[in-house]
Amino acid sequence: MISHRKGSAVSNRQRPNYDTELVRAISNLVCVLEEGRITFINPAGAEMLNVDSVKDVLGRDFADFVHADYADLIALGIEAFTEEESGVPLKLRPIHAMPIDVLMHVRELTEECQLETQAFMVECRDISNYIKASEDARKREQRLANVLGTVQDAIITIDPKGKIQSINAAGEKMFGYTKIELLGHNVKTLMPKEIATEHDSYIDNYVTTGEGQVMNSSMESEGQQADGTLFPIEISVTQMTEGSQRLFTGVIRDITQRKKALQKIEHLAHHDSLTGLPNRNLYMERVERAVVRARRSGKPLALLFVDLDKFKPINDNLGHEAGDIVLKTVAERMLQCVRQSDTVARIGGDEFVAVLENLDAAESAGVVAKKIINILVEDVDVGNGQLANVGASIGISIFPGDGDSTDELARAADEAMYAVKEAGRNNFKFYKDVKDKPS
Ligand code: GH3
Ligand code: MG
Repeated sequence: MISHRKGSAVSNRQRPNYDTELVRAISNLVCVLEEGRITFINPAGAEMLNVDSVKDVLGRDFADFVHADYADLIALGIEAFTEEESGVPLKLRPIHAMPIDVLMHVRELTEECQLETQAFMVECRDISNYIKASEDARKREQRLANVLGTVQDAIITIDPKGKIQSINAAGEKMFGYTKIELLGHNVKTLMPKEIATEHDSYIDNYVTTGEGQVMNSSMESEGQQADGTLFPIEISVTQMTEGSQRLFTGVIRDITQRKKALQKIEHLAHHDSLTGLPNRNLYMERVERAVVRARRSGKPLALLFVDLDKFKPINDNLGHEAGDIVLKTVAERMLQCVRQSDTVARIGGDEFVAVLENLDAAESAGVVAKKIINILVEDVDVGNGQLANVGASIGISIFPGDGDSTDELARAADEAMYAVKEAGRNNFKFYKDVKDKPS
């Protein structure tokens, strides 16, 4: 039960002078200036100025306690700051102590307190922790900006509408735009048309379903530079929220060099490094495909196995380099004898193959073989005024007829080629003409 006692302890007790007590208790510096001199200061103020007693401050010029960097500012007169409602940043200079960053508020007291001389109340709040925290944050931001500035990858942030919010220096360089040209523009600017048209629905789909191929994993795509040049990229995107805004950050790597290196490796795996012709691996693939096509079209396919005659003596007499020149010349000359759609491959030291497709008749392979022999017997200039001379033994197998698979056709052409060698070289033979003949 609540009783209403008359003259309670609280109402009877003498009230403290809250005004004075609060000024004493407050942790900010509070002082009064008359004609620039300090006529009152609270204990927290004395502590902030690092003096032993309030008395050490009274009568002193307030400017004595302001850091030299702010001397010009304070010289404007304290009344200049009464209008600054949000406060004036200032550095105080306590006695024998480190400067303190404060936020100063000034209020004129003259009229309010009915004073004869002009007086101001100055309140300074220690904001050094706040300054330090924001400086630390600024340093962190700077560090991050430095890192983003030095990475090779483009880092681009967009909003859910695709508008570019930020792009790093690598991004500007990679796409050939300046930051100003891109900020606020749609990221589709950086994509080729076919990818750009899909982009809006891609983001919409991600926002509604949470499904997206590039989200948190990388995929290959294509970028478009300011001058329209397309280049291969690898992109991965992460989602983040800034306040209530959803943002997407894409990390984009230019993989032109990687692609070129892969193409080179791919080429090396399938081509002979001396002549640039397809090697045995690619030749096998090509023949397999050619057999499939020939089966469908019903047109004959021929395999011409070519082994150079007396090639070894060129190496022995004129040197290995001269031999290499001959091999390269043979490759060029053989290519001149076949259609562009046909394949010429180097499958061994001095062994070449020509795969002829869509022949009108099997006999046409003999015409090509003759052409090859005629061109290969021509002298080869191997430098230093020296000429080399080779011949060619060619065995021919035909699909259909001499075999049904790549292996069978290769064996047949090889057998025919050896038959030519045995018969005296520099000639050609069809497998059908040698197969049943005793050697
Ligand atoms: P044949 O008339 O019976 O075919 O004899 P050949 O002298 O042509 O010798 P053969 O076909 O038996 O051997 C081919 C030679 O080709 C053996 C090897 O020293 C040489 N050779 C293999 N690869 C290369 C190469 O890349 N460069 C050069 N210069 N020579 C090679
Ligand atoms: Mg040979």
